[in-house]
Amino acid sequence: MKQLSTSRRKFIQIASLAGASLLIGERWAQAATTDALLLSCMDYRLIDETERYMTGRGLRNKYDHIVIAGAALGAITPKYPGWNNTFWEHLDAAISLHQIHTVMVMDHRDCGAYKLILGAEHAKDLKTEKDTHAVQLQELKSQINKKQPKLKVEMLLMSLEGKVDVIAG
Ligand SMILES: [Zn+2]
Repeated sequence: MKQLSTSRRKFIQIASLAGASLLIGERWAQAATTDALLLSCMDYRLIDETERYMTGRGLRNKYDHIVIAGAALGAITPKYPGWNNTFWEHLDAAISLHQIHTVMVMDHRDCGAYKLILGAEHAKDLKTEKDTHAVQLQELKSQINKKQPKLKVEMLLMSLEGKVDVIAG
């Protein structure tokens, strides 16, 4: 096997170190400009659609993401206080680490967590389902703004086809 000369080996070492720090530098720069925290449900059916939506908003690889079953409802339901704490602690972390200005809360239709916590009746028709999500989204938005008045909160509802309705607040 051919031995690399010392100077050549040194050059490769320096080059790869430079490459590594460039990569770290890029990632750091990207993290520092992150403006949003996304809260979405854990539902496996909508992972791609959620990613696609964020890309469409120009936020690909530019947002923090916390996943809690039921999204808005998971963050505030008295049934799972541990989930609530997890949300608030991650919100604090996103503010400290990345100075986020926006929280995007993405609920979705046919949500198993909503059924688990509120019962299947909440989705007996499309309007009732949307109204139920709007109530929980609005409640979470109020609670966020009580703690962090400067944060913008978006309230979103995704269909199983990945179409997103913005809920007016
Ligand atoms: Zn869900």
